[in-house]
Amino acid sequence: GASIRLDGVVKQYKGTAKPAVQKIDLDIEAGHIVAFVGPSGCGKTTTLKMINRLIEPTEGRIFIGDRDVTGEDPDKLRQSIGYVIQSGGLFPHWSVSKNIGAIPRVLGWDKARIAERTEYLLDLVGLDADTFRDRLPKDMSGGQQQRVGVARALAADPPVLLMDEPFGAVDPITRVRLQDSLIAIQHELAKTIVIVTHDFEEATKLGDKVLILSEGGKIEQYGTPEEILAK
Ligand code: ADP
Ligand code: ADP
Repeated sequence: GASIRLDGVVKQYKGTAKPAVQKIDLDIEAGHIVAFVGPSGCGKTTTLKMINRLIEPTEGRIFIGDRDVTGEDPDKLRQSIGYVIQSGGLFPHWSVSKNIGAIPRVLGWDKARIAERTEYLLDLVGLDADTFRDRLPKDMSGGQQQRVGVARALAADPPVLLMDEPFGAVDPITRVRLQDSLIAIQHELAKTIVIVTHDFEEATKLGDKVLILSEGGKIEQYGTPEEILAK
């Protein structure tokens, strides 16, 4: 994993009266899972997308490891940051292996290396490679698609994994399985993971640290689940 640092980060969307995120200073340790939690509209996704360079901060700087990524081309970050969204974001008419290989192909990996990586990742996320390699996402359950989404995000072995409500659209039993699977993956790969959730229980279960945001993107608390629950 790599550390992530936000230094005085502000986001005010054009044509809005108030910032969506105000002056966030935040240090995320390499190899930790941090859960962003808070009510709808408090700026969780906005903060995640600024780290991913999908949107530009109005003020402040963002660092991945020692690297200031604030002005960087978002496409360059794809090797450093894997990204998982609620709906999986898979191409429905591409096979599982084609989806997982998308970024390595762009990076110019050869076929054998991509195939080997795909087998490894399918196994890691708990999908049988022989069963799922050629399947289309549209013919899979939401939970299975989300497992592929995680595999795809990890394809180029990025040090950072950003997840926006990754388990928000699956049933409660599948959700617990996916959460446990993520913890196992984290132990295996030691990625730095930021997960956005509106579920406080999920945040305290998964997070080494939990960041509680309130309306207007203000940090209410940042600490271990024990520290958060003690208050
Ligand atoms: P959360 O992820 O915590 O639900 P968001 O980061 O999506 O919150 O949104 C934070 C605030 O910014 C909300 O008030 C939302 O309406 C506003 N917002 C989000 N995206 C845009 C946008 N593209 N233009 C204007 N306002 C936006
Ligand atoms: P949405 O509008 O649904 O929130 P986004 O704009 O956040 O979606 O992302 C669009 C797509 O871009 C996603 O499906 C995601 O897979 C891809 N993407 C964005 N950033 C990255 C990244 N760093 N690495 C790989 N894929 C990315």
